This record gives sequence, structure tokens and C-alpha cells, in this order.
Amino acid sequence: VKRVYAFGKDADGNNVTEGNTSMKMVLGGKGANLAEMANIGLPVPPGFTITCQTCMEYANADNTWPEGALDTIREYREDLEARMGKRIGDAEDPLLVSVRSGAPMSMPGMMDTVLNLGLNDQSINGLIAQTENPRFAWDSYRRFIQMFSNVVMGLDGDLFENAITAMKNARGVASDTDLTAEDLQELVREFKDIFSENVLAADYPSLVVDGEVQFPQDPMVQLQLAIEAVFGSWNNPRATLYRKQNKIADDLGTAVNVQSMVFGNKGNTSATGVAFTRNPANGEAEFYGDYLVNAQGEDVVAGIRNTSPIAELKEVEGLEEAGLELEGIFTTLENHFRDMCDIEFTIEQGKLWMLQTRVGKRTAAAALHIAIEMEKEGLITKEEAVKRVDPEQLDQLLHPQFDKNATYDVLARGLNASPGAAVGEAVFSAADAVAAAEAGRKCVLVRWETNPDDLAGMIAAEGILTSHGGKTSHAAVIARGMGAPCVCGVESLKIDAEKKQAVVSGTDVVISEGDVVSIDGTSGIVVLGAVDLVMPELTGDLDTILEWADEFRTLGVRANADNPEDAALSRSFGAQGIGLCRTEHMFLGDRKQIIQTFILNEDEAVREKAVNDLFEAQTGDFYGMFKAMDGLPVIVRLLDPPLHEFLESPRALDVEIARMEATGADAAAVAEKRELMEKIDSFAEQNPMLGMRGCRLGIVYPILPVMQVRAIATAMAKLKKEGFDPKPEVMIPLVSVKAELEKLRGVAEKTIAEVEAEQGVTLEIPIGTMIELPRAAVTADDIAKHADFFSFGTNDLTQTTFGFSRDDVEGEFVPQYLAQHILPYNPFATIDRGVAKLVAMGVKLGHEGNPDLMCGVCGEHGGDPDSIHIFQECGVNYVSCSPYRVPIARLAAAQAAL
Ligand code: ADP
Ligand code: MG
Ligand code: MG
Repeated sequence: VKRVYAFGKDADGNNVTEGNTSMKMVLGGKGANLAEMANIGLPVPPGFTITCQTCMEYANADNTWPEGALDTIREYREDLEARMGKRIGDAEDPLLVSVRSGAPMSMPGMMDTVLNLGLNDQSINGLIAQTENPRFAWDSYRRFIQMFSNVVMGLDGDLFENAITAMKNARGVASDTDLTAEDLQELVREFKDIFSENVLAADYPSLVVDGEVQFPQDPMVQLQLAIEAVFGSWNNPRATLYRKQNKIADDLGTAVNVQSMVFGNKGNTSATGVAFTRNPANGEAEFYGDYLVNAQGEDVVAGIRNTSPIAELKEVEGLEEAGLELEGIFTTLENHFRDMCDIEFTIEQGKLWMLQTRVGKRTAAAALHIAIEMEKEGLITKEEAVKRVDPEQLDQLLHPQFDKNATYDVLARGLNASPGAAVGEAVFSAADAVAAAEAGRKCVLVRWETNPDDLAGMIAAEGILTSHGGKTSHAAVIARGMGAPCVCGVESLKIDAEKKQAVVSGTDVVISEGDVVSIDGTSGIVVLGAVDLVMPELTGDLDTILEWADEFRTLGVRANADNPEDAALSRSFGAQGIGLCRTEHMFLGDRKQIIQTFILNEDEAVREKAVNDLFEAQTGDFYGMFKAMDGLPVIVRLLDPPLHEFLESPRALDVEIARMEATGADAAAVAEKRELMEKIDSFAEQNPMLGMRGCRLGIVYPILPVMQVRAIATAMAKLKKEGFDPKPEVMIPLVSVKAELEKLRGVAEKTIAEVEAEQGVTLEIPIGTMIELPRAAVTADDIAKHADFFSFGTNDLTQTTFGFSRDDVEGEFVPQYLAQHILPYNPFATIDRGVAKLVAMGVKLGHEGNPDLMCGVCGEHGGDPDSIHIFQECGVNYVSCSPYRVPIARLAAAQAAL
């Protein structure tokens, strides 16, 4: 196996790159694109990449090296030294390298990188001699010890920061840059002592010299430890959490890139920066990014100093040429990758070097805009434009915004780093955000700047607010990736995380923990108090892409809705009908009393009156639904849940009775309550979800389906007479044998005929069934003989196929199954392949029984893009999902068809 791949030029300027951009699974994203950039002639500091597979072998063998791997690395290291004409650790002219992680999927800031590797007490002299800049050299050495100690040895970064602060205080200076070469040399000595005092000899016996742990002077030891640390960072807790969050497999591993260093901190004609070829927040074609003069590595992202916008680069003396070259490279990269790219670069004494590129992350708004613009520019086709946008990401656009009519005072302004608005209690630490979310309270995470340790809190919070950092800071990048609103760089916010409060300079406002704040990541506005939020509409770019999607998709998209408002909303989002109207949702509120009367009363007259009341109410409900969906199908499911769901909880009654007795209530009243409790208890079942529900209810109490079908037909007749075009369909749930359907179909047809006669109109109402039990799926040919349509109820079908209770999936074992990879994903979120087989079988057999059968899916899976791809294969006609997911399903369906 080939474990190491070279990239960049040799000593004669020939490209000796061995990889390319298609090798991300082997070289990681960073390594594959460093190779690609070298191949297309861009300036890349030479280096080599150790494969992801080597990382996994190393990890799986309990952190021991596969045979021969270290030898190969040595060969490539010697080759790199030959190509550069310098040796690592050399006392005259040392080569310094960076050791960079880089997984197949981009995981920004999750894993580790070490810069300036190769410095020791000899090579520092070579660096001083070569650069004639002792201050730069000592600063590089102290940065290296600091990074190596933190990243490779896991020492607390504060140990070193505190030493720097103490040094600044002792010298009476404010900034790091005011420390002299001698100061930095002194710091290097102190850093080495900190290293010796804090690294345990027991952990690193090989680093013990003269009875004491010493900072490793041998560059080969430095290199091996750094590579091992990068391998190890694949499994650090934040990387593991990020993968879970982003559905990235745990067995990919990370590559390690060993690359010759270039220096952005060599004075005022040196700089470092990050940029996007287009604006990643709104997609505008403009240069976007930040740079810092005389800085190294992650100074830009860390938000330590305030950065300058990239567009100004070509106006800075000494950086003009590099600035112009960079703009040319933006175009080269876009034409080559045919997509928006993000890049990291460094300018060393006027010379531009490319350190990284990849297809850039972007907000949903930007994704839409870029796809449409690139299609117009002729860079990509319409199909590609539709395929470019992640359906799940559209969710961001369906997020709340500040209501345009709301009035509020702007407390502070920052950068509009990630769109959408959030309202919540201010919290000042990731742990507090997690705690608030667990307690069901919405919060906004307020931080000076976030770092990877804040990830759990960022996920828990509704939105993120920072006082430092630019639009490419950690907070901004992660928030955009998650679709969480973010306002960053609010300089007037003076945060005291210890005291859990922030003051807004220029005002007397103090934000304390628990105070409600509103942020608008689209405009960068911060408000004290709650601002009303509204949902956005389908307009502009979103509408364009969805129209394009509609040209390609073959699956229909309907909505699950049970009131006219939701129906109208889903229609405005492009729903082509209602795939599931759950009538039990119409039995809540005041209606609960009526259905309780029906269930609990033995007196026929009382029961009949209750059913009549329900009929009146339901007729009104259906009238509103069919009117809102005029001209489009509305599938009404007959009553489905176990009746006990409409009754009071016997346990609550028991408590009440005990209280009545304790407070000496009237004995007759107590007896009455007790009777009610016993009555309700008689409806209790061991497994209600496998009990008296669905079509079983209709068979035992035919009066219920008669009432519901009569209400449907009556509402339809009324609308028809008013000149509308109502299209209701009747759906019978939880059928397992065809006789159930046959019988209830007869009841429904008879009822419809009666209403036709009464009202003097003809009523065409298709009658179908849900397929949500395995028996129904495997006998679908029989069942279809009595059905005009099937709707696969994949929630119940998943529950009954696995025998997993869907109400308990969050509980004990399913999370364990996921953690232990017994299940690849939660089958209630994305349809399981086994359950999908039953769907495919049901569709195929169903068509044998009835060639005109319409087939749809109405479980939660109907709005899940991954499931939609699977349903496309199953041959269903449409999916049905909650109103807000209709746009997502339209796009996903187009991608499934392409
Ligand atoms: P991440 O994946 O977290 O972005 P990188 O490996 O890209 O980590 O390293 C972070 C930063 O370190 C880069 O953006 C770059 O500024 C700096 N860096 C990495 N390698 C080099 C190098 N060979 N020369 C100069 N700077 C480097
Ligand atoms: Mg990077
Ligand atoms: Mg069901």
C-alpha cells in the first residue's frame, strides 16, 4: 500500500505531485486540494501527505505504527529536504515544517495543527542567521514550543499565556509585538521549564534526559510525536461530536500533511489571511475575507487582532502584487472547481503562497444565489444548480426573521455573520447554554469569541453573539454550518464571563444572565428584550431554484396538515395536496368533552347526541380544509388513536381522589370520581399502540366512521354547491387484513350514497388505506383490490417492522445502538432499508391488485431528503410532509430524480 504522497515542486521547479482532488478519501480534503493546486500551477509550499488509511490502521492497532510506515515517512522527509535544499534541524539553514490534519470531510478547527516544527537550540541559530531577524526567530521558537506543548502534549494553553502576560507586565508593555528578541528568548527558556514541569515522565519516558523530562530537541522525535498527535486528534471529543452532528462516519481517519513553512510574520510585507471567492453569507460575486499584516497561522481566525478586508490588500504597499495575483487565483479556482471556494494564504515578503482551498461552506441564501448566478454565467447547468443546494440547508431560510412591523431599540450592532433571528435568555458559557436547553429554555450564547470547546453550547443555543472576531471567525463559520443565527464582532459589548454579564459601552445597559435578548444574524442587530419573529416567504432565489426543481422531479409533494391555516401555508410552499389530515387533532380542546361523553356513556341517546355534536364540528373543519385546498386532493384519515388518549389519566384521577378524601370531601362526589376512574381503567390496554385503534375502532364502533364520512361528504356537497372544486379522499388506517378494508369501505360508500341522495349532488370520493403493518405490505395485492390508493404510514411501519416503540426511541437502547453502530442511523428519522423493502413490495403488489393505485408516503420520513431518495426507488407517486418541509421535499425530490 502507498502510504505517503508528495505535493509541490522539486529543486528544479518541476511539479512532483502524486495526488489530486479526487483522492479526498485517501489524502483528506486538504491534502487532495493542495495536490490539485500544485497540479494547476498555483504556488503551494512543497510537502507530503500521509494517508487517512494509515491513521485508521494506527488507531485500530492501539496507536502503534503499521510496519514500514515510519520508514516511508523518513524517505519522503529526506526527499522534501532535497527538494527544498534545506534540512530539518540544520544549524545553518533549517527547514521548518507544519504538521496539519486534514480529514476527507471538512471539519473546520476540530483537529490539530502544529507550526514551525524543527526548531531546537541549534536550528534557532540557523534561522537567526538566515533571516537576520532574531526577534522573528525567537518568536517562532516560542510559538512552536507553545503549540507543540498544547496540541501534542495536551498541556493547558493558559500556562504559556500567563507566562507571556507576566513578561509583558515585567517589561511594562501592552502588546506581544512590543516584546524584544531578548524577552522572547527568555520566554523560550521559561516555556521549556513549563514543559519539563508539566509533562509526566511516566507518560513520555523517551523524553527523559538526566532524570528530567526535556523539550525534545531531536526534530525527528518532534515530527513523529506531532504526526501521532494529529492522528489522535481524529478521536478527540470535539471532533467526535462534530462528526455525530454532521453525520460523518467515524472510520474515515485523518490524513497528515507535512508542509514546508512559509512566514506571514516576517514584517510589513508579509501577511496571512483567509478568503472566499464569493460572499458566503449572501452569495454576491465579490472578494470576501480578512487578512492580517505581519501575522502567522491562526491569528486571523482566532480574532485576536482586528483584521482588514481582503479587497484592500492590493492597495497596501509591498503587498500590491500578491493582492493582484490572489484575485487572479480566485478566478482560476472558480473556473477549475466550478464552484465557490474558500482559501487560506500567506504572503512571505511579498510572495504569495496558497495553503489551502476547498469548496466553501455557505449559508442557504448564498448557496441559492451562487447556484443561480453560476448557471447564468454558464459555469454550471440547471441540473447542477439544482443539485448544488443542500435541501436540509433550506431549513435556514424557513427560519424566523424579525417582524418588519415590530418596533424595537437597537442596543448594539455587529457583523451579520449567519442569517436568521433568535430570541432567548443570555447565557455566558457553553455549559450554561446546554443546561438552559435541557431545561427547555431558549437561550442566546454570548461569548468574547467561541472556540471548539464551545460546540455543545453553540448547538444548544438558539443563536450566538460574540464581541470579537470577523466573518471568518470560529463563531461565524460554525454558526453558518449549523444554520444558527449569529452576530459577531459586537465591539461595544464588554463581556465579563465570570460575572455572567455584559455591559454595552456608551450606554448604562447591563445584560445579566437570564435577560432576554434578540439577535438578527441577517442584519447584525442586537436588541435587549424579545422582538416578534415572522416566517419568511418563498420569493427570489429560493422560488427560482424550487421552480427549477419542479421541472426535474417526478415525485409529487403533499403536506400533512389538519387545519386550514397549515393547509394554506403548505399550499403557498408548493404542496400539491394534503397527504394526511389527522382527524384526532380536531378532537382536542372543547371537543374533548364531547368525545369523552361518547366513550364513557352507556345511554344510547346521550351517545347519539355526542356523535351529532361531533358531526357538526367536523363538517365545519372539513369545509375549511377543502376550501383552503380547493382543486387539490385532501386525504382525510379516519380516527386512529386508542380512545384512552382522549380520556383523563387514571393516575391523575387517583391522585385527585386521594386529595378529596384527605380534605374530607363529600362521599358521594368521591364515589362518583372513583366510578369514573374505574370506567377509564377498563379502557386501559397493555400495549395500546397495538390495541384498539385505527380501523379496529371503526369496526367496533361503526357509528364513528359513519359520522366522519358523513361530515366529509356533507362539507364536500356544500362546497360544490358554492361552486368550489373540493377533492376529499377517505383513508382507513391500520388495516392488516383485506376484510377490514372491505367492510369499512362498504360503510363509507353507503354513507356517501346517502349524502348524495340527501344533497342531490354526485360525490366522487376515492377510498384508500394506510399501509403501516407488515401484514398489509406483504398482502398488498389482496388489499389493493378494495383500495383506490395506498399511503405508507412509515412511522408505524417502522415501529411494527422493528418492533421498536416509536414513543421510546429517545430512551435507553436506540441511542446505544447508534453509538455502537448496530444501527447506522435512527430509522424513525431516515427510512430503514428493510422497512423500505416493505414499501417497495407494497407498491409492486398493490399495482398487481389495482393497476390504477396511487401510492404515497405520509410518515415523518416524507420530509427527510435521504428518505426521499429511497422512496424514489420504491416507486411511490408522492411524499407528504409537514408544511415547513414542503420546499425541502421539492428540492430533494428533484435531486432524487436527477
Ligand atoms: P485548520 O484545518 O484548522 O484550518 P490548518 O492545517 O489549515 O488547520 O492550519 C491552520 C493555519 O496554520 C493555516 O491557516 C495557516 O495559516 C497556518 N499554516 C499551516 N501550514 C502552514 C505552512 N506550511 N506555512 C505557513 N502557515 C501555515
Ligand atoms: Mg485551514
Ligand atoms: Mg399510523
